[in-house]
Amino acid sequence: MYCKDLLVNLKSFLNMRDNRWLDEKLQYLLKTYFGGVAITNPLEIRFGREAKFRFGSIKLVKKGITSGRGTTSITSYLPRFLLKARGTRDTLGARGTLKASETPAKSVITITRMFARDDVPADVVLYTISHELCHYAHGFSSSNKRLFRHPHHGGVVNREIKERGGEKYIDAYKKWIKEYRKRILAGRAKI
Ligand SMILES: [Zn+2]
Repeated sequence: MYCKDLLVNLKSFLNMRDNRWLDEKLQYLLKTYFGGVAITNPLEIRFGREAKFRFGSIKLVKKGITSGRGTTSITSYLPRFLLKARGTRDTLGARGTLKASETPAKSVITITRMFARDDVPADVVLYTISHELCHYAHGFSSSNKRLFRHPHHGGVVNREIKERGGEKYIDAYKKWIKEYRKRILAGRAKI
């Protein structure tokens, strides 16, 4: 029994998606769906900690700063998340846009390590990356011009993804989040 568990763990470890996989997906999305978006400052992607409710985030990292400071917590959104399946749970850098005098080093997209496991459909991860790319395009946590007052103003993220032809990612995410919410509410997923 113990050995079997060990083998199962080993198998899932070997199947883990890594940062290179994430970067491949980012490049694919940029090329295929976000071709017209100005890359005004460098963009990076990586897995972060195992977050159960915050699936993605984008923040602006200035030279020499590598900590998570500057992101906004979304903990207060938790009860709403349990009731509704709208949008993705994420954070944006508290400093949404830049003053002209500031030079950013890069925008960093962080994806929950929970999505490294291959039992989470790849399209769900692609949705989350697309979601963060919309923020980048709309000038939140990037040096692009800010287009909206709030990052999720009036459903702008999903509308943007849809207009760019990524509706299948929205569908995959909605389907997955529905099941995920059920498991959370049933207490089967560890929080
Ligand atoms: Zn968002």
